[in-house]
Order: sequence, then structure tokens, then C-alpha cells
Amino acid sequence: MTLFLDHNKYYRLPWNLPDNAISWLEVTRACNLHCDGCYRENDAKGHKSLDEIKNDLAIFRKYRKTDGVSIAGGDPLVHPDIVEIVRLIAQEGVKPILNTNGLALTKELLRDLKKAGVAGFTFHIDSRQHRPGWKDKTEIELNELRLHYARMLAEVGGLSCAFNSTVYADTLRYVPDIVTWGQEHIDIVHVIVFIALRAAVLESKFDYYAGGEKVDMSAIVYSTPDGEQQRDILSNDVVEVIRTKYPDFEPSAYLNGTERADAFKWLLTGRIGTKQTIFGYVGPKFMELAQTLNHLRKGTYLAYTRPSVQKKGKAMLLLAPLDHGLRGVARKYLRSLLTNPLNLFRRLHLQSVTIIQPADILCDGSMSMCDGCPDITVWNNELVWSCRLEEQIKFGCFVRAVPKERPQSRPHEGAAVAGMMG
Ligand code: SF4
Repeated sequence: MTLFLDHNKYYRLPWNLPDNAISWLEVTRACNLHCDGCYRENDAKGHKSLDEIKNDLAIFRKYRKTDGVSIAGGDPLVHPDIVEIVRLIAQEGVKPILNTNGLALTKELLRDLKKAGVAGFTFHIDSRQHRPGWKDKTEIELNELRLHYARMLAEVGGLSCAFNSTVYADTLRYVPDIVTWGQEHIDIVHVIVFIALRAAVLESKFDYYAGGEKVDMSAIVYSTPDGEQQRDILSNDVVEVIRTKYPDFEPSAYLNGTERADAFKWLLTGRIGTKQTIFGYVGPKFMELAQTLNHLRKGTYLAYTRPSVQKKGKAMLLLAPLDHGLRGVARKYLRSLLTNPLNLFRRLHLQSVTIIQPADILCDGSMSMCDGCPDITVWNNELVWSCRLEEQIKFGCFVRAVPKERPQSRPHEGAAVAGMMG
């Protein structure tokens, strides 16, 4: 049975379509890897021109307040103008975050990107990427590669360092090991993201329509034949497996599904500790304060906290009277001083663990997206979900799933019969 988490206990992030923490800029369709679970067709000639990119940025400016822009693809580092793209975004006062597999990152390029104003990197590393030199490695073995990139960034300094990995049925069991590795490097790893695999399942139960026309979804890169992969990993499942190693692991903020109030499409956990000990987890009031104060000061909701702030865990404890999570952290930290006074001289770091459960198709064919989607991108001068962009590209619109038989009842999202995107 799926672990129950009560969404009413958590802070519903205030992100919405016109006012969001993040936006998603795709600068190329070219990639130097072929990952399972990728939802974009690899096209070596798929670089957008600088004019096209400026236009996308203008569309974001017109429709959406944003704190950070995730620069994605394909792999954005293979774009010949990537340094200029980063500079363009930074000049607008927005944080440029590079979402990359890291393969093309050299020390020289990293220095140039830092000078251009990059705020951080999200490295996508998992065991289904067919990486040269890392084939058939487990998620645990890949921690060595994760550490390589974390150290590269730490050497340059001042950059947010995040890692994401797609979670498959057979890699779910490794999630706690990645979380432990994250703790061991809490001083240089700021965010860990787990994305539950989704792929449009060519269900014998559905037909797919673009407008009134029935379409063949097998042309879509993120489709998968019936039964080929498990399709129902939920955020709750990821929390459950993390709790096998961290029993008190407790999220504090979420985005619900567009079709379900109690689905955890984005589930955020903030933990405070040292490399040796996690003292506890921030609560919903802390998250609310962080988002609200940023909006009051800067006019945008917060994305990618700066590393200089994340290492100020002790200062954050001053907010303990306002947040029960921080009170728990403070209690455990103070108690630890009795047995280990050296903790007084250790920095406390804040590290975020985020779980994403992308789009689901429910039994009645409705699609439950992330309500307040942070990864909205631009297509034909409109804002669209990046996870379903291939439908726009192939069919000129989003596709509807129509059940072949009338569904008896609308299931809970956890019982969704299909899912999309990874
Ligand atoms: S709706 Fe799709 S693009 Fe938006 S955050 Fe969810 S998975 Fe990402």
C-alpha cells in the first residue's frame, strides 16, 4: 500500500503560471548522450539561434515573473553560444541555471560561464544514460561521477550545485544511497532531485486524439509499449524508500496535480545538518517565509537559494519560534553539543531533496499536470508544458487520451493507469 502523506500538513508552494520561481528555456535539441526516459528527440542540428532565444526570453518577460531560468535541451552545453545565452539571462537580473549531463563541461568553460553570470548547475546523472566509461554502473557507483562535478563547482565557488536522477522501478532501491551520499557532501551539494519516470503508455485502453483526429502516439519519443516499464512510481513511494534509512524524513512543501489536490507533483524537503548528522527537517512555515520574503523583496518566488545562504543553517535556527521543523532541528543540535561539543564549530548546512512526479493520465483520460508548473517553456510564442512539447511539435497541439471504454469511476492519482514524461 502506498505511504500516506497529508498534503494539509505541508505548505502549498505559491507558484503559478504568470508568477513562478522557475521557467524552462530549451536552447537546443542536440545532445551528446542518449538517456532512457528522455522526452526530447535528439537532433544534432537542433540549436536555436540567438534571435530565437532572445524571443523566448521576451515571451517569458511578457507573461511570467521568474527568479531563475533553467537552460535545458538537449544538452545546453553543446550549444556554440552557451556562454552568451547565460550572459543574456543574467543581464535581465534572472538566475541562469544550466541543466546538463555535464559531459561537455571543462574547467575553462566553467570559468567562462561563471564570468557570464551562471548561478548554478543541475547535473542529470543516472544509470540509464549510456555514458561513455560509465556503462552498467549502479547509482551507487555513479556517486563518484556526481562528486567529480560537485568538486568542480566547489573549486570555482559561489555556484548552486544540484543533481537530478530519473527513478525507474529497478533503481528506486538506490534512492536512499544517493540521499546518504548527498549528506556526506552537504557542504558542496545543495539540491538532490528525484524524478519518477513517466512515459506515455500505448495502452490498449486508450485512443489518442489531436483535435478531432486520432493519432499514433508511437511517433512520440516518450511513448512506451504497454507493460514495458513500471509506470506508477509516486512521490510517496520515493519518500517511503528514503524513510527506510532516514525514518524522520519529512517534506514541507508541494505542488499538487491539476486533477488531484492531494497528489505530490513536486514535493520539497529541506534538511539541516553536517556531513556527520542530519539534525532535522524544516517545516512548512520556514518554506512559506522563504517564498514570501523573496517575493516581498524581489518580486519573484525563490528558486535556487545561493550557496552562501545554504551554509547558514545556524542563523536559520533563529526562526525556530516560527517553525516547528526548525524547533526540532534546534533541539537535536543543542542536545548533540552535550555529547559532541565539536559540533559547535561545525557549519550547519541546508540541503534540499526534491521529488517530482510528472504528468499522469487518469483512467478517464484526463491528464494531471503539475499545478503551477515550474518547467513551462515557450512554443510558438506561447507558454506550454515542456514535458509534453513533443506533442506540440509532432501534432501541433496537446494530445487527449480517450478511454476505449467508459471508466466506472475516477481513480485516485496513485492508481493512474498511465503516465507521461521522465
Ligand atoms: S507539468 Fe510537466 S513540465 Fe511542468 S513541472 Fe510537471 S513534469 Fe515538469
